[in-house]
Amino acid sequence: MAKLSIDLKAGKLKDERDVIVGIDLGTTNSLVAYMVNGQAVAVKDAAGKSTLVPSVVHFNADQEVLVGDAAKEKLITDPAHTIYSVKRLMGKSFGDISNFEQYFGYKIIDEDTESLVKIRVADRFFTPIELSAEILKELKRRIEGVLQAPVSKAVITVPAYFNDAQRQATRDAGKLAGLDVLRIVNEPTAASLAYGIGLDQEAEGQKIAVYDLGGGTFDISILSIENGIFEVLSTNGDTFLGGDDFDRAIIDHWLAVNDIPASRIQKDKHLGQTIRLEAERAKKALSTADHYTGSLDDWQITLSREQFETLVTPLVDRTIVACNQALADAGLATSAVDHVVMVGGSTRMPLVKQRVAKCFGREVNAQLNPDEVVALGAAIQADILAGNQQDILLLDITPLSLGIETVGGLMDVIVPRNSKVPAKVGRQYTTSVDGQTNLKIAVYQGERDLVEHNRKLGEFVLRGIPPMPAGLPKIEIHFYLDADGILKVKATELRSNVATEIEIRSQYGISEEDMARMLIDSIQNAQSDMATRALLEARNEANNILLATTKFLVQNKSWLAAAASAEISRLAEELRQATAATDKDAINKAMETLNEYARPLAQDALEKNIAQAMKGEKV
Ligand code: ADP
Ligand code: MG
Repeated sequence: MAKLSIDLKAGKLKDERDVIVGIDLGTTNSLVAYMVNGQAVAVKDAAGKSTLVPSVVHFNADQEVLVGDAAKEKLITDPAHTIYSVKRLMGKSFGDISNFEQYFGYKIIDEDTESLVKIRVADRFFTPIELSAEILKELKRRIEGVLQAPVSKAVITVPAYFNDAQRQATRDAGKLAGLDVLRIVNEPTAASLAYGIGLDQEAEGQKIAVYDLGGGTFDISILSIENGIFEVLSTNGDTFLGGDDFDRAIIDHWLAVNDIPASRIQKDKHLGQTIRLEAERAKKALSTADHYTGSLDDWQITLSREQFETLVTPLVDRTIVACNQALADAGLATSAVDHVVMVGGSTRMPLVKQRVAKCFGREVNAQLNPDEVVALGAAIQADILAGNQQDILLLDITPLSLGIETVGGLMDVIVPRNSKVPAKVGRQYTTSVDGQTNLKIAVYQGERDLVEHNRKLGEFVLRGIPPMPAGLPKIEIHFYLDADGILKVKATELRSNVATEIEIRSQYGISEEDMARMLIDSIQNAQSDMATRALLEARNEANNILLATTKFLVQNKSWLAAAASAEISRLAEELRQATAATDKDAINKAMETLNEYARPLAQDALEKNIAQAMKGEKV
């Protein structure tokens, strides 16, 4: 979409490419960045002060929308109409979040547990996508104000563990805000790019740990650069651990020192908010100062760096445990890590930097502004997509396996967990009934052998298959998983070329905890799952043999001896009975007995048929 314009100073035509912006759509804060003279820059607010837009949306009685700092102020005065942390709700069903609804000050609607959550503000209902779109619109306004030109293309970042539904929801939010989302990029990948990691040839094979401690969440991601692309080797973290918890530790300390019961700040919301802001101020000050003294009524409001560090050490310890777990999951020793990248406002704390450096046994990358690095990296990614930098592909992995349901309710994995994306995988199937003209294709996500234990993402029907005997149609099913983790499934009957496809816009998401639980479940149930799969597969095979046997008896009635025919029927009946029971070995044995007896007869039948066909040809 290059446009030509006249560069007045140089007096010549210049190639003007569309600006593509990079957006960090955060839980606590969001921001937008773009490239100026080959340098990524985060956009400041109108006052020229902060680059951060608090991810808060407020609606007044006339349904007018406020976003950012102005909305954040309403958290105290009008909490029921002020929405924060909406990122936690992206692509989620009420069932996914019901256990932590207490954390929100606003109303979350639970019509049915499998549909996406909605948020009630007065008498209007909003989806998390619509609310995120309001934040994105504000960022778009900001950058357009700076550039004095419309902006319509963006790269938006998401946590590495976001699943298809959450990525799709983020894309949709962009669309709703009037942005063409060219790419959804993982936050740790963007942060690495901001430090220039992965941009040169030497990067090949390097391992990167990205430690992201924000306002309410903690993520650790281990990346590897393979063939010039970023791969996520593992992710870990805690969706309820961040700066807010550090603030709370300070509040609890001050309450104790001043002998004030916690119930008082629960009742007095205004006091609660005032002390919370004071605690955050103290925390930030202590990132550079050794001592903090504030004021609040006649309370004693002081805190030393040492006291603060003692208070929060247990919280920081938890992040270190997660780092070690992520390393173990990636199969790496700490010595194998080449770079440690610090992301998120809370990594400004000296204690955090020290502990992380010690854990990985190396200096950490903390020179850039930690709350800007993700947006800066997104702007660099946007620049690469605009063709302004050498071509660098960014690649990630699927956190859960994707597949379809096959006969007997079995999960047939097509794209295995941890596969690189983008991925294109195809597999052939056939019909199980004569003259079958429709085939239902149900798509699932998960690690278990039976689809009933996995997550259904969608289903569709391939219609218009020309009637053929069972087993003859060749139905190819292709999974295309794009770089944003969005799944397209296409089914084609190869003899007739009839085809249908769907794009999976998953109806509901899946939390990080659910994902972890699914993995654990699949391991704990591996043995019984495997036994069930073996039984179902034996039954399927037996049913196919029984169908073929019935056909054989009918087709070869003219020459088969009555005794042979009776014996085949008897063995088939034995197999049928075994199939009704649950002993897979008995089924396999009955199949073998029947096959053994019928094999020479089937051979005779084949020869007779060939002879028949040759005779026919001579005439
Ligand atoms: P998110 O990724 O969740 O949107 P950010 O990366 O913007 O969040 O981090 C916000 C958090 O960083 C807040 O809890 C804030 O108090 C904390 N923070 C910001 N500056 C400092 C500082 N100087 N010292 C300690 N914490 C800080
Ligand atoms: Mg962040």
